[in-house]
Amino acid sequence: MTRAVIDTSKCVGHGQCAMMAPDVFDLDAGGYAETLVDELTGDQRRDAETAAMACPEQAIRLED
Ligand code: SF4
Repeated sequence: MTRAVIDTSKCVGHGQCAMMAPDVFDLDAGGYAETLVDELTGDQRRDAETAAMACPEQAIRLED
């Protein structure tokens, strides 16, 4: 099982993650990232990896 974890102390709300992986990430009412799913499918994992690399704050990590 792989899940995406957001370091909320680093996230500043650029939103790239929600654009790169809209099935995995969204922005909450305050404009900060939140995860939409607990367990990533293969496609979601691929998109989440892309989002993690795109995050300017390096706030996303994947945990197995
Ligand atoms: S791209 Fe990074 S900093 Fe921007 S909202 Fe997503 S997790 Fe937060």
